Amino acid sequence: MKKLLLASNNAKKLKELDALLAPLGYVLIPQGELGIPEAEEPHPTFIENALAKARHAARLSGLPALADDSGLCVHALAGAPGVISARYAGEPKSDARNNEKLLADLAPHTDRRAHFVSCLVLCRHTNDPQPLIAEGEWHGEILTELRGTEGFGYDPLFFVPALGRTAAELEPELKNRVSHRGQAMQRLLARLQGA
Ligand code: IMP
Repeated sequence: MKKLLLASNNAKKLKELDALLAPLGYVLIPQGELGIPEAEEPHPTFIENALAKARHAARLSGLPALADDSGLCVHALAGAPGVISARYAGEPKSDARNNEKLLADLAPHTDRRAHFVSCLVLCRHTNDPQPLIAEGEWHGEILTELRGTEGFGYDPLFFVPALGRTAAELEPELKNRVSHRGQAMQRLLARLQGA
C-alpha cells in the first residue's frame, strides 16, 4: 500500500476519500495520527487553502499529502458560505448551527440554487513545483427544512433535482460517485494514474 497523508481530521471526509483511494492501493493517514496540527486557512479561495493545507502537511510529515478544501456556494448569497462553510455560524464548528444560519439567511430569497465545490491538491513533497490539482462541483437547491440523516454538513438541506433526494438521503456509495468530492477525486485519480 502507498501511504498518503490526509491534511484533515474530518472523519467523514476521511471515510469518503478512503473509499475512493483504497481500490488504487493507497492508504490514507489522517494528519492528527502523526500529531500534525491543522494548517491556517486564511485565503479567500478554495484552491489557495487546499494548497496551504497540503504543503503544510507534506512539510511536517515528509509524506505525499492530500488536502481537500471544500464548501457550499449559494447563488443568492454571492457564493457564501464559501471558504468559511465549516464555520459559517462561528466557533465552535457546528453543522446544526450552520444549517440554521443558512436557512435564516436564505429566508428572504426565492433563488435557492447552490453548489458544492471540492478542490483537491496533492503535494508529492514540500517543494513539489507541480502539485496535482483537481476540482469538482455538485449542483442543487437549498430546501427550507432538513431531510435525511446520512452524510454531514449541509447535506440535509442540499436537494439534488436529478436524483429527487437530498445529499443526506443518498446511500454513501452513491454520494461518493456523484458528489463534488467524488468528481474531483475521479479527476485526481486519472492524473495520478498518468503521473
Ligand atoms: P473544510 O474542512 O475547510 O474543507 O470545510 C468544509 C465544510 O464545507 C464542511 O465542514 C461542510 O460544512 C461543508 N461541506 C463540504 N463538503 C460537504 C459535503 O459533502 N456535504 C455537506 N457539507 C459539506
